[in-house]
Amino acid sequence: MGVMSRPAASTEALVLRAWPCGETSAVVSLLTRDHGYIKVIAKAARSSRSRLRPLIEPGRLVTVEFSLDPKRELQFLRGGEVDLDPMADGASLERSAYLLGALELMDRCRPLGGGGPHGGDTEATGDLFAVCGHFVRMLSSRSCTRMALLFFAFEWEMLARHGMAPEVSACVACGRSRAELEIPGLRFNPAEGGIICGACVLRDGLNGGWPIGEAALDHLGDMSRTGIDLNGTGIEGPALPRPMRRELGALLHRFLGYHLPGYRLPAALELLRVGKDSTE
Ligand SMILES: [Zn+2]
Repeated sequence: MGVMSRPAASTEALVLRAWPCGETSAVVSLLTRDHGYIKVIAKAARSSRSRLRPLIEPGRLVTVEFSLDPKRELQFLRGGEVDLDPMADGASLERSAYLLGALELMDRCRPLGGGGPHGGDTEATGDLFAVCGHFVRMLSSRSCTRMALLFFAFEWEMLARHGMAPEVSACVACGRSRAELEIPGLRFNPAEGGIICGACVLRDGLNGGWPIGEAALDHLGDMSRTGIDLNGTGIEGPALPRPMRRELGALLHRFLGYHLPGYRLPAALELLRVGKDSTE
């Protein structure tokens, strides 16, 4: 061991949450690239001239240095710099809602192997950080006109990290591939783990789940192939029509609710829904 008295880490991280602590300090939860989920205390970070202040804003990608003492629950944030402020180009309601929704999801539904200061699977940790960082970068991009689709792809990735990505390429009961299936009668069934064809619904009474339309199935199929990359340019183009947004959102919400311990609809999305659907 090198410097025994002050073990420390320096790594990229995403700021998930920050709570006030004392007069001017803050407790901050971070998803780090190299050490999984970490909680730090940022001394005096809420005072106006603190150099730590820019590092505690949720949603920012940062490179931070902190103590790494395995005996402590809370590490000390020592310094760092901001790599990306997702609100630098302006904070629309939609961008804020999807960003905060994703942060909430990351914080509440931590995949196994997400790691921590005392070990964990560093490969899984780095992979999770990469997905989250990718999401924040794409959401921050000016060319991102399909934020809802990007958010859904993020939800898909979270399911995949829990080993629970829906099967959408074939009926989970009979195994017939999607190309052989008739769309009418097809159901999306969280308990069975994916789509069930009409014939299996009739034969086996697998009547749970919800109807799924062809366009929604296409979107989910894209996610199963390319994940959050969405074919590279999937975040550009016309925004999803509201019925499609609702259908995909509801299908994924039910799947997440069934499979992820601790999941609930992120409060930030609730706000977006109230704002957009207030005339209905
Ligand atoms: Zn079937």
